[in-house]
Amino acid sequence: TRVSAGSLVAVALEARGADGLSRSSGLPDVLFVHDGQITKRPMRALALSALGPCPGRRLWDIGAGSGSISVEWALGGGSAIAVEAREDRAANIRGNAEAFGVEHKITVVAGTAPDALAALDGPDAVFVGGGFDIAMFEAVWSRITPGTRFVAHAVTLETEALLGQLHQQHGGELMRVEIAHAAPLGRYRAWEATRPVVQWSTVR
Ligand code: SAH
Repeated sequence: TRVSAGSLVAVALEARGADGLSRSSGLPDVLFVHDGQITKRPMRALALSALGPCPGRRLWDIGAGSGSISVEWALGGGSAIAVEAREDRAANIRGNAEAFGVEHKITVVAGTAPDALAALDGPDAVFVGGGFDIAMFEAVWSRITPGTRFVAHAVTLETEALLGQLHQQHGGELMRVEIAHAAPLGRYRAWEATRPVVQWSTVR
């Protein structure tokens, strides 16, 4: 993979004296242009681990935000369709795909799911990072074929409750992740908690 000169990615690699990107999922957030709406590095690594990128596989990344999930999927050799409702974020996705040299692997669809999904080629894996509700689930579930991986993250209580129900009906793995980072507290340090994220992953 050739990263584009002058991009955040190129600058970061140079600063580290690195001659290539890590092969491991969960690249630093600072490598992506984003507006705060990005699946942060530890949760992104867990998302990619559940999705299982492989050469030749196609991902639907629904509510793609900065496109960080699509980029890391594409670095694993697959192709991604990044569906994002906001045009400014769709532009970020295109920029990030170019910066990482995977623009030929990522199709950006600026539109709202589930409507925007109707015309797409079927996926081997689906990640839902935004806009998840029962209508979205039913639209996706009825479109995907048996064997397709499905992974969703929830931050709100409402979406978390839905994932709890879907796990009961369809099985798979339901996981709650709470991460805290050490941060200064006066002369000391203390744990600063982030919002818990619930991940449901299953195979259709
Ligand atoms: N995984 C992303 C972050 C997702 S944030 C990343 O790593 O960058 C959730 C995103 O979902 C937001 O950008 C929001 O605009 C988008 N979104 C919410 N509802 C949507 C819908 N119904 N269709 C498409 N995008 C949606």
